[in-house]
This record gives sequence, C-alpha cells and structure tokens, in this order.
Amino acid sequence: MFNVEKIRKDFPILQREVNGKALIYLDNAATSQTPQQVIDAIVDYYTHYNANIHRGVHTLSQEATDKYEAARLTVQKHFNAKEAHEIILTAGTTHGINLVAHGFASILTKGDEVLVSALEHHSNIVPWQMLCEKTGATLKVIPMNTDGELIMADYNQLLSEKTKLVFVNHISNALGTINPIEEIITKAHQVGAAVLVDGAQACPHIKADMQALDVDFYVVSAHKMCGPTGVGMLYGKEEWLNKLPPYQGGGEMIAEVSFEKTTYAGLPHKFEAGTPNICGGIAFGAAIDYMNTIGFEAIDKYEHELLEYATAELLKIENLKIFGTAKNKTSVISFNLEGIHPYDIGTLLDKMGIAVRTGHHCAQPIMSFFNIPGTVRASFAFYNTKAEVDALVSGVKTAQRMLA
Ligand SMILES: *Cc1c(COP(=O)(O)O)cnc(C)c1O
Repeated sequence: MFNVEKIRKDFPILQREVNGKALIYLDNAATSQTPQQVIDAIVDYYTHYNANIHRGVHTLSQEATDKYEAARLTVQKHFNAKEAHEIILTAGTTHGINLVAHGFASILTKGDEVLVSALEHHSNIVPWQMLCEKTGATLKVIPMNTDGELIMADYNQLLSEKTKLVFVNHISNALGTINPIEEIITKAHQVGAAVLVDGAQACPHIKADMQALDVDFYVVSAHKMCGPTGVGMLYGKEEWLNKLPPYQGGGEMIAEVSFEKTTYAGLPHKFEAGTPNICGGIAFGAAIDYMNTIGFEAIDKYEHELLEYATAELLKIENLKIFGTAKNKTSVISFNLEGIHPYDIGTLLDKMGIAVRTGHHCAQPIMSFFNIPGTVRASFAFYNTKAEVDALVSGVKTAQRMLA
C-alpha cells in the first residue's frame, strides 16, 4: 500500500521550515531529497569503514571494497545490465556523457553525422558540439512540435548510413516529455548508429531495462533518485566500452605502467581512474534499494495522480500557460503567467516556503523554441502531496495578484 504520510517520515528535510512556513519542495527535477536510509548509509561509511578501495589488504579497505562492488551489483540489477563490468560508476550524468563523447573523438571522422534531439539538457548538447568541432562530424537536430514531442517522421528522414550516433534524453527535464526511446533505438540500429540515452530525468520515475531497450549507452545521476550528488552510472554495452579509449589516466585504470608503455585495466576499471566517490557509490546503492522498497509502479501511479491534479488546478488560473503538453509525460509542469517574469513568481513562492525552479532549466534551445526567457517549473516526487499542490496553486494566485 502506498502511504505518502509514512513515506514522508523517511525524509527529515521535509520537516523543516523556510521563511517561517513548512517547506514545500517542488524542485525534484533539479535534485531529489534524501531519505534517512541513505543518510544512514553515508554516516555508517564514515563512522565505521572509511578507507580506500581495491588497493588495501587491511580490513577496512576490504570492507569498503566489498560494499562498493556490492553497490555496483545493485545498480546492475536495477537497470538489468547483462554484466557488472558494463556499469561504470561516474560523477554523474554530465561526466558519463563527456566520457562517451571523448571516446567517440577517436571513432568519428569528417562527413559523419550525429543526431541530437531538440529537447536536450545542455549537458547532452555541449559535449557533442565539442566532439563535432574536434572531428569535423556534423550535428543535426531532431525537431519537436508545440506540445514538446519529438517529430518522429523528421527523425526517420534524418537517419542515414552517415549517422553514427544518436543522443536523446529519456525524459525532458524542462517539459517532462517521455521520449519514444524504444523506437529511436530500433531505428538508429537499422542504420548502424549507436544511441546514448540521458536517463537523468527518467531514473526517479521509470525502471529502465538496459537489455530490453538494447540501448548502447545510458547515463543517470544518483542525486535525481534519492542518492547523493557527485555520483552516477554510465551503462555501456561491453563491445562499445571495449572500443572506447580511457577517458582519464591515473591510478586504478591501469594494468601495468612503465615509462615506455602503459597497458590499461579491463572493464570497468579502465574508466574509473583515481579514487572514486566511494561513500557516494555505496549510498547510490542504498538509494536504489530504498526506491525499490517503495516500488516504481506505485511511484508512477501516484505521481500521475499528482500530475493530473496539479495540471487541472493550475489551468484554472487565468492567463496561465503550461509548456510541455505531451501525451506521454512525467510529473513536471513548466508554466508562465502572462506579463510576469518567472523569476518574480519563484521569489514570491519562496517567501511562502515553496521551492520551484525558474529559468531556462539548462535547456535554452527549448526556451528559444517557445520564444520565452524561461518558465516556472514545479516537479513532483512520490513524497509530495495533494495538499502541497493546493498550496502551490494558491501561492501562484497570490503571486499573480501581487505582481499584476
Ligand atoms: C539533471 C540532468 C542532467 C545533469 O545531471 P548532473 O547530475 O548535473 O550531471 C542531465 N540531463 C538531464 C535530463 C537532467 O535532468
């Protein structure tokens, strides 16, 4: 049984006040909050077995190594990767994308084409632009319609034997659109292109299955799914990870080093140079365990109720426009009030204890498409409530009255 009041007790931060009001946290698409179970894993690490991994023969080092590798297995199982060594523990989504983009610099040549969707976060645009500058490959954009959905007919047109890579997010952080990645992947494979899916915004809502999707690369950040910042996953198919050169040189990623020649370690260590975020990796595993005890089906169902309720209630407000009206979307609502800057609404909401995001959400091309400077974005998690939606709606109305 999904019991939101019981779930809320797991999140100590939800008890705090902001500006004298109970905190209403609706910025989950930027980062999620952390349950006590994950905080406990972090405290336990630093209290009982903080040590460097893989190198030590001493007990603490072995305990830390065991827990870190157990976390990798938790990640593998959750995302249903075939092999544990296909899971690279990274510093997060941005790091994972840059690692792959760096690797493709030695694969792409002039005349090759790479496709990006119009719905991307800057972290899934800029590394590819840098890659194209380096290699002479051409970047092409899959356009979207005014609902914020990718135009699949145009995607089919853009694909050709020149296409080497397609990168697209699973879910847009700015609009909440769920992209048809199954179809995107299948079609890309038909022309021999690899696909990288940015799953940062999907991981708190959807349990993505690497083998069923047959995706080549999939990246997430732990902090979007109840884990800590600075850690994440890069999933890569073994054959692709073997093709890519190492990203950073250093400790842990080598087999043997001499001044004449260095040979690299096997997967996953080839891509894990230096001391990783050990505690973060372990806490990432704890976050996945936590979310699975709630259950992704229950989360999805509950968040959809919140989304539908919030959408209907917000649309009752005069002169309010929602951006991102895809049929298939998650609990993200981007909106503006006519004649009022989103920043001013966000500032007034904060005075009422309500945390929302304002601005371009690291997706300036989407804002340009709609010809707006930015939006107010309310993004809901499974620990939000209908009462909080009501508070948001009433807060927006108050802000509108004050700013009119
Ligand atoms: C948050 C987010 C990112 C960036 O994640 P980092 O943890 O900052 O690296 C990339 N893409 C999408 C869709 C996101 O929501």
